[in-house]
Amino acid sequence: MTTIHNLGFPRIGAKRELKFALESYWKGESSRDELKALGAQLRQRHWENQAGLDLVPVGDFSFYDQVLDASFLLGNLPERVQGFQGDELDNYFRVARGRSAKGLEDHGACCGGVAAGEMTKWFDTNYHYIVPEFTADTQFKLDASHLLEQLAQAKAQGVNAKPVIIGPVTYLALGKAKDESNKLALLDRLLPVYVQLLETLAKAGVEWVQIDEPILVTELDADWQQAFKTAYQQLKSADVKLLVATYFGQLLENAALAASLPVAGLHVDAINDRDGVEALLKLLGDEKVLSLGVINGRNIWKTDLTAVLDWVEPIAKQLGDRLWIAPSCSLLHVPVDLDSEQQLDADVKSWLAFALQKLDELRVLGKALSQGREAVKEELAENLAALTARRNSPRVNNPAVKAAVARISAELGKRKSAYAQRASKQAEFLKLPAFPTTTIGSFPQTVEIRRARSEFKAGRLDENSYQAAMRAEIERSVREQEKLGLDVLVHGEAERNDMVEYFGEQLDGYAFTQFAWVQSYGSRCVKPPILFGDISRPQAMTVEWITYAQSLTQKPMKGMLTGPVTILNWSFVRDDQPRSASCLQLALAIREEVLDLEKAGVHVIQIDEAALREGLPLRKSQWQSYLDWAVESFRIAANGVGDETQIHTHMCYSEFNDIISSIADMDADVITIETSRSDMELLEAFETFQYPNEIGPGVYDIHSPNIPTEQHIVNLMKKAAERVPAERLWVNPDCGLKTRQWAEVIPALTNMVAAAKVLRASA
Ligand code: GLN
Ligand code: ZN
Repeated sequence: MTTIHNLGFPRIGAKRELKFALESYWKGESSRDELKALGAQLRQRHWENQAGLDLVPVGDFSFYDQVLDASFLLGNLPERVQGFQGDELDNYFRVARGRSAKGLEDHGACCGGVAAGEMTKWFDTNYHYIVPEFTADTQFKLDASHLLEQLAQAKAQGVNAKPVIIGPVTYLALGKAKDESNKLALLDRLLPVYVQLLETLAKAGVEWVQIDEPILVTELDADWQQAFKTAYQQLKSADVKLLVATYFGQLLENAALAASLPVAGLHVDAINDRDGVEALLKLLGDEKVLSLGVINGRNIWKTDLTAVLDWVEPIAKQLGDRLWIAPSCSLLHVPVDLDSEQQLDADVKSWLAFALQKLDELRVLGKALSQGREAVKEELAENLAALTARRNSPRVNNPAVKAAVARISAELGKRKSAYAQRASKQAEFLKLPAFPTTTIGSFPQTVEIRRARSEFKAGRLDENSYQAAMRAEIERSVREQEKLGLDVLVHGEAERNDMVEYFGEQLDGYAFTQFAWVQSYGSRCVKPPILFGDISRPQAMTVEWITYAQSLTQKPMKGMLTGPVTILNWSFVRDDQPRSASCLQLALAIREEVLDLEKAGVHVIQIDEAALREGLPLRKSQWQSYLDWAVESFRIAANGVGDETQIHTHMCYSEFNDIISSIADMDADVITIETSRSDMELLEAFETFQYPNEIGPGVYDIHSPNIPTEQHIVNLMKKAAERVPAERLWVNPDCGLKTRQWAEVIPALTNMVAAAKVLRASA
């Protein structure tokens, strides 16, 4: 008998119930008891959804974030929130979200402001966790109450519960030592708390505990490898069986380490690390359970069930009861239920599986392995038919696109002249002053804009009226920018809901869902579009809007596009071709748009690559090959233009040190980046590398309602000029202004333009 189990279930709810409940609680519109009751209800429903599985995860539910839950479980609260007098859940939200001193969202019993915990990406997913904070003095103290509560609820419901916790080594690895002390020194203090936790679970009648150690798929130095040995040597004293779960990548050189841990079982991601399984089978010995993650927990495609069985059946024969199967990772990263989609194209829908459908696939696989394929003949036939239809669909395969990609040569990504020659032609053509001013693209998405769009989508506003409303907004943006005296204007992006969705909606090969939300952090969700087929651009996507904006002004208007890498990284992508292949197709489509803009007289074009860094693989050794195709895709999109046309790119994350040579290879004439909060220190990478092109370091923190003063901006730019020659500097905000109010934007940009004048005068 093969055991079937799940690693985690999306907690946000099929209708994002948790999101709405959280937000209503935070606004003070509902009670803590109501919130907790909703949590219990979701857990109950999600366990029902997992009926038929041999082991069901418990403890994967969270009111905000599972890593923050671990910090509370281990008693590792940042000092600034210790001794809080109010309810524990409110304290938990204080760490998650911070609290202003005024206490606007007033559920806490007291007191002053508190800074939110830092948030960062969970491995290479789009989920963000609250970073555990450590110092040399950190002490741990078990508080298993919430986990036990959930366990009791599960048992009462008759669920065969498998508690899920984050392993001690991954927990330490994910955290940050605030005092630069060595986090690993805390391991000795941490382990007794884990032992106590496992003993508590054993006493509660638990047989198996899933202990997540995804850090095993990254490069570990000798100290961290040793930490694994030390940790599991100690944890083995507790009277529970441990399933160490790894996911998101390959074990590679850590395979022997993972296989030798003194635990009862190991879960591996057989989507990303299928090739590693054979070696692992030899390393594992003949007592351990091997759990294979054979259903992709990161994408939305149906699994090829027959192919999985072809591969797994011999392993099942070899391992017998010691083989388990599961999704590759927690289903946290996929939407809940495909059946909710009412408007999705029927073809595309028939190729997809969300969390619930993936669990159905797991049940079919389990039955096939236990009773033979005959027992699920119909399901397998249906699955095969859907996969065959997808494979042969003309909607997926567009020979013209494939041919265009095959024709790509090195020439396509090259500008006609080197930067220095282009720069002088552009200077002559654009006649910009020193320290030119610009913005990053969007202006405030006002209530009116959003209302017009939702009315239009609901069919209550006709196309013409919607277009007219957007044109009016564009005109307003242009007038304001002229009044402000900015040098390179933008149209303001009023017509765009989202910088990826806007383009995806106009490209062939993309599909959109209504409810396919995935948690990004806390109550925030994203709804990535689905890149399902070869990408082509039936018609120009932005030219009309930009040329309209250009018609309103004599100043240069900057065309605004999202780059291929960012579109790719913020979508669900195909599993039937490498990411790089989809990226090149997107690059060709964006290139056509760039050339159409140029033809229409737009000579400054910005191609945003906000998500370029996000796509970096987990292992550094694999970075370069990603960067190579990502940068090449950008270059193909951007570099077909003439010398006079100025290409801008924009990236809003920090840290360029380790990728600066690739950033330089992009060869954009101007790059604008987010730097205001780093006090220009982020320019160090550009300085050290002697980055040759122009840079616009952000001088206005757009995440904050604060208005930067003229003097502040002058000071920041002077610091920038210490690192980058002044003649190559631009003056601009950190990022787009869509989340700000006009009342904030106008004074901030007034100060920015005034600062540029001061800089010019003193140059
Ligand atoms: N052009 C986009 C904007 O201004 C860029 C957004 C981003 O970098 N995330 O909104
Ligand atoms: Zn940005």
